[in-house]
This record gives sequence, C-alpha cells and structure tokens, in this order.
Amino acid sequence: MTHGKKAYTRRVFLKDLGTLSVGMVTVGVAGCSPSDTAGTTTGAGAGTTAAVPGSTAAPSSTGTSTTSGPSAQAPGWHRINFDDFVSAYVVVRGGEAAIVDTGTASDAAPIDTALGELGVRWEDVSDVVATHNHRDHIGGFPAVAEQAVNATLGIGEADIDPVASVGDVVGLVDGDNVFGMTVIATPGHTPGHISLHDPDLGVLFTGDALNGGEVLDGEEGTVRGPNTSFTPDMPMALESIRRFEDLEFDALAFGHGTPIETGAKTELQRYLDSI
Ligand SMILES: [Zn+2]
Repeated sequence: MTHGKKAYTRRVFLKDLGTLSVGMVTVGVAGCSPSDTAGTTTGAGAGTTAAVPGSTAAPSSTGTSTTSGPSAQAPGWHRINFDDFVSAYVVVRGGEAAIVDTGTASDAAPIDTALGELGVRWEDVSDVVATHNHRDHIGGFPAVAEQAVNATLGIGEADIDPVASVGDVVGLVDGDNVFGMTVIATPGHTPGHISLHDPDLGVLFTGDALNGGEVLDGEEGTVRGPNTSFTPDMPMALESIRRFEDLEFDALAFGHGTPIETGAKTELQRYLDSI
C-alpha cells in the first residue's frame, strides 16, 4: 500500500531498539467484526482468525454499513500474526484504529500491510500502545510511531526506561483509558506490564501476562500463565492475572499464541483454578 511521503518529525526512542534480528516474517491479518467486511487474508498462510463476538452494542459506533473504508469500519479487533511467534492487534472503532503491540523491529512493514487490508489509513490510527518493554513487542514501535502521525503513544509507566529518550510516549497507569480500553496494570512479567480491557468488544489484550496454551504445551485453545523463562517476578505476575477474574470478556488476545475467541473467561478460570 502507499501512504504519503510526508516528512515525519517525531522521533521516538525506547531502550535498545533495533538490535533484535529475525528472519523474514509472513503476515496475515484476519478477523471478524460484527459485519466482518474487512477480514481478507492475503498473507502466506500465517493469519489466524481472531474474532469479536460483537454481541454487545458499542455505545456510539455500531457499524451498520457494509462498505469498506476507514469511515465505514465496523468496530472489531484483528490479530496480526507475525510468523506464529508474536502478535499485534488492531482495534477499529468509529473510523479510527488503535494498535496494540508492534512486534519485532522487522514487523513494521507487516503492520502497514495489515492496516491496508483492513482499510485503515495510518492517519486514522489514534493510539499505539505497547503492553510492555520487551523487544518482540516494542521492536516495531519507532517505525510504527513515525507513520502513525496522529497517534498518542503509550506504554506502562514503569516500562519507560528512565535513561532512554522516549520522545512523547505517555506513561500509562492502571485505570487509564486508551481508545475506549481500560488499562489494567499487570506487573510481574515486566514492572510496567499492562493489559488492555475492551468492554464493548468483550476482549482482553493480555500481552505476556498470559499465553495461549499451545505456546507452552501445544494444547490449542487453553490459557497458560506467564512464561517462567522470561518473567522475573512470577509471584507478582500470578497475582496480577487474578485481577482478570473481575473483568467481563469473551475473548482473550495473547501476545503469544492463538487468541481464544469465545468462552475465554471459562478457560481463564480453569487455568486459575489449577495454580
Ligand atoms: Zn514479554
């Protein structure tokens, strides 16, 4: 796709970006919104469906149009699957979009492709949020931020490196509202790890506070806890995810692993009861 060759002036630096190197990624964006007009998958088979039940009415933008284009987008969330390794998500609502996580440094181009498939223009991206300061989630952040010229940029306050220049990135804290989503502080995996709860769409974006089951044990459609290999404070991480019991949602969208599209609360409870 194309976007204007305008001169971008913002510069955003997060700690130690750009040094992680990964191979070529394939990308497919797939998703469902209540009218699901945009979920065309053109990636090389990497796309995995993420859906939104959409049974609850969004307050102001219950899209009824069936035409494509950013202003006609029905509310919904969409997974960008980076080679079955890590995911980013695009939330569309009211003709605007938010991007949750940005993959590795190699993943900015696939995000561009995904937005194109969804009919979302970069200038319609109002928020770019990282769940935490790990390179597979913020690697693409500077490039994405540079293209999303109208976006407010955010990451958990405690994950903003105090030494690095972070430009105009907002430090998010528990209870903040980002694009209609509530910030849930879920420290443990990193000190400033956040999850994002979208009550209208019935989805909880967990970052690495939880994983899809297949990541750790090969069992698809189940919930697993934080990866012990990369979670320095497991007691706190486990305490954090107990907070999810109080939230209403049908879907869980993980940083790693296939989202659970419906009945996710039951799956979560099954996991919590097992620990
Ligand atoms: Zn992580």
